[in-house]
Amino acid sequence: MERTGLCSICGRASKMHTCMLCGRLVCDQCYDFVRNVCIRCSVTPTFSEKSPGQRSF
Ligand SMILES: [Zn+2]
Ligand SMILES: [Zn+2]
Repeated sequence: MERTGLCSICGRASKMHTCMLCGRLVCDQCYDFVRNVCIRCSVTPTFSEKSPGQRSF
């Protein structure tokens, strides 16, 4: 569901998306459509994707 409101991160009025992690309403530019989270939660790795010391190449 899309709703209009003020973005919790940048403060601009746009169509809002609800972050799956923190639940805050953010706009398109502050939303990660791949992870379905806001950019604040997107920059925080939920699990270790890369393991240091192990390289494929
Ligand atoms: Zn925003
Ligand atoms: Zn979030």
